[in-house]
Amino acid sequence: MINKTVLITGGARGIGKAMSEAFAKEGYNVLINFNKSEDEANELYTKLSEKNFYVKLFKADVSNRVEVENMIDYCVKEFGGLDVLVNNAGISQDKLFTDITDEDWDRMMNINLKGCFYCSQVALKYMISEKKGNIINISSIWGISGASCEVHYSITKAGIIGMTKALAKEVGPSNIRINSIAPGVINTDMLSEYNSEDINVLVEETPLMRLGTPDDIANCAIFLASDKSNFITGQVISPNGGFVI
Ligand code: NAD
Repeated sequence: MINKTVLITGGARGIGKAMSEAFAKEGYNVLINFNKSEDEANELYTKLSEKNFYVKLFKADVSNRVEVENMIDYCVKEFGGLDVLVNNAGISQDKLFTDITDEDWDRMMNINLKGCFYCSQVALKYMISEKKGNIINISSIWGISGASCEVHYSITKAGIIGMTKALAKEVGPSNIRINSIAPGVINTDMLSEYNSEDINVLVEETPLMRLGTPDDIANCAIFLASDKSNFITGQVISPNGGFVI
């Protein structure tokens, strides 16, 4: 039995949901954060609680510092600690660069990048005092290679990689590991921005000839959270079927 606690932002849907389930099955206490996906969160909570997994839900907008502080405070009080933070919450938007408005830009930066900053900063205050911790940031292949019509999204995902590398250097001496997962094209609600023709092209351009599944990413997160990756920090692992090599 692993006596560890994980907090997964945006943990009720898609990749986050797969990670919530995988960590629960591994024996972690799981705090599942959600913002608007209340029905999905309640459904997942019921499913995992019925299996006697120790899971709790917390509604918070990751782009709101006070809500993030309340969430991490709750996590430490309820579970007695916070061992692993997975910064998974994120949004995407398909838009020509020349059409991006100030509101589009700010929303993208606030949720994808500032959310990661708030959650990491607040969690690290606790982790540094404990001299242990593990943060996994969900980036994207588009943060590595750039996506046409998703420039603001690509910027946030590249920023997450920069944050991962810089922070790994800063907090390594406190026995805290920071890594990033940069998924390829994964079959979740986020793909609703693409039509079936776009999806077929993406599959054809993927050497393993399929979309990724949320479980492909969850398996990677379990590895990065585990002692089996004890000497890995500041790295970007990209489960992408060979799409970006
Ligand atoms: P998704 O839309 O199903 O999940 C996104 C999650 O983030 C949802 O649970 C949503 O409620 C949550 N969220 C959004 N704004 C939030 C906020 N302000 N506060 C708290 N939670 C918020 O999509 P997904 O594919 O599961 O995406 C999960 C992560 O994986 C995202 O960071 C995304 O950028 C990244 N990613 C996805 C893909 C893909 O192909 N699906 C590829 C690369 C990276």
